[in-house]
Amino acid sequence: MKYFILVAAFGLLAAQHEAGDDKRGYTDTPQLPGQKWKVHDADRPHPRKVTPGLPLLNEAPPSDALILFDGKDLSQWVNPRWKVENGYMEIVPRSGGLRTKEKFGDCQLHVEWMIPQGVEGAGQNRGNSGVELMTHYEIQVLESYENLTYADGQAASMYGVWPPLVNATRPQGEWNVYDIFFETPKFDGNKLAQPGYLTLVHNGVLVHNHQQIIGETIHRKVATYKPHPAEEPLSLQDHGQTVRYRNIWIRRLKPYDQ
Ligand code: MG
Repeated sequence: MKYFILVAAFGLLAAQHEAGDDKRGYTDTPQLPGQKWKVHDADRPHPRKVTPGLPLLNEAPPSDALILFDGKDLSQWVNPRWKVENGYMEIVPRSGGLRTKEKFGDCQLHVEWMIPQGVEGAGQNRGNSGVELMTHYEIQVLESYENLTYADGQAASMYGVWPPLVNATRPQGEWNVYDIFFETPKFDGNKLAQPGYLTLVHNGVLVHNHQQIIGETIHRKVATYKPHPAEEPLSLQDHGQTVRYRNIWIRRLKPYDQ
């Protein structure tokens, strides 16, 4: 009984500490620099919904793309424990994230994802995964067609910093497409020389337009940079829920010939 009271009291303290939850958002998180909102702000308005055009087909990659997943095997990934069937891969919850064998810097990246029909849960626990550029900068994957969570944590958000400009998410059972254009941050020794930038087209709709990345993705804190090499692997997040991916390809971007 004593133990139970102790656990209950601790739970209450923890609840007081975390003012809010992952459905409504939070009120006790730090201020985001240069924005009027806090991290995962409960008062931050949600982007308006936009119905994307007709579903894009599972299009063939351009000829100079490196195919990271063609629907058949996970040979481009380290220690893959996810299931491959019917032309897609599916997260085996809590088996660990996927990470590419190769490393990448500036790139164009195409990823298709789907929350299978019937996935349950709420807030951050409904089809949560993520495309983690350089393993550090997460573009959120989540059921955000009809699932409330804080605006900077919904699908296509630059997690914890910027919600998408609009919500172009397709419902469960339909494929979503991310076309990502990424400029890596540049470091001069331990100092940030130039921040990273992200452009994201979600289902044919522009949702981040050369938006500055302020640091490594983190929950309930302000993202900050930590120096890392010029190239790093790409990872896909295992957040303990079922999400499918298909048709993943990447093109390394080089500056114009001068
Ligand atoms: Mg995630």
